This record gives sequence, structure tokens and C-alpha cells, in this order.
Amino acid sequence: MTYAFITHSRYETKPFDHKTTPYTEDGRKRYLQQCSKHKRLPCDRPSINTPEDYAISIYAKGKQWKKNFEYFMNREYAYNRDKGKCKCCGKFYSSTVIGHCHHVDNKLPLERINKVQNLAWVCVDCHHMIHNSQIINVDVKTERKILKYREKLKK
Ligand SMILES: [Zn+2]
Ligand SMILES: [Zn+2]
Repeated sequence: MTYAFITHSRYETKPFDHKTTPYTEDGRKRYLQQCSKHKRLPCDRPSINTPEDYAISIYAKGKQWKKNFEYFMNREYAYNRDKGKCKCCGKFYSSTVIGHCHHVDNKLPLERINKVQNLAWVCVDCHHMIHNSQIINVDVKTERKILKYREKLKK
């Protein structure tokens, strides 16, 4: 037996406006103006990828072999999952804290290496430390996480 739930639609305080759309700059601005709680749109973030990145993905070879189109797509998902901050030290990215997308296991074949679960966003400093530079100026918790990623590279 199927129950039908009928919800009474509440009277809209703001009538629907077709110009309010997440797909245009103006539409997003309108949404934010209408939204009383100033909730940010989930897509209100510029893409990490630049046109140059996409160019790399087409000619990915040599040192850049990992950077295929899947990589650039999936690192956006990984960035959202990691909430725009370093997985090791927790710093949010800014003009001074630059994020890098790290391959957790960098020896996987190309068809597996760029899966979202194999990508982790870390800041440049932590990234260098993961790849064997000396671990300095970090707290114990951060060091432990750096070492954990380093272990995964040695597998
Ligand atoms: Zn970091
Ligand atoms: Zn890395």
C-alpha cells in the first residue's frame, strides 16, 4: 500500500525569478541577495583548473603522465571532500597557503591512480615533507599525518 504525502506549499515570500540561476554570475548574485541567511552556493567557488591545465591533460606524457583529464576532474571532487584545507596541517588555502593535489599511492597504473580516493589535497609545505624533505616546524599531529602519507608512497 502506498501512502501519498501531500505537503501544503507555503506561500513563497519571493516569487520565482528565472534570472536567479546558479549558472550565471548575475544569477548567483541575485540568489545571494534573496537568501536571507547568506548561505553560500555550493558551486560558489572558482574552478581549480585553468585552461593551461586542460592543455596539459591533452598532451599528458613524460613527467606529467599522471595529469590526464580524469585527474583534473577528480581533483575538484577531492578538493571539495577535503574542504579546501590541508589534510595534514589543516590550513585553509589562500594567496599564501597554496594547495597541491597529492597522489596517495603514486605507483598505481594510470587507470587507477586518479580515482578520487587516491587524491589528497595538502599544502605545498606538507606536500614537500611528504615527498621526503625534512619535517620541520609542524606539530606532532601534523607530523604523524605527513609520515602516514610518506609510508603509503613506500608501499
Ligand atoms: Zn599543510
Ligand atoms: Zn605528492
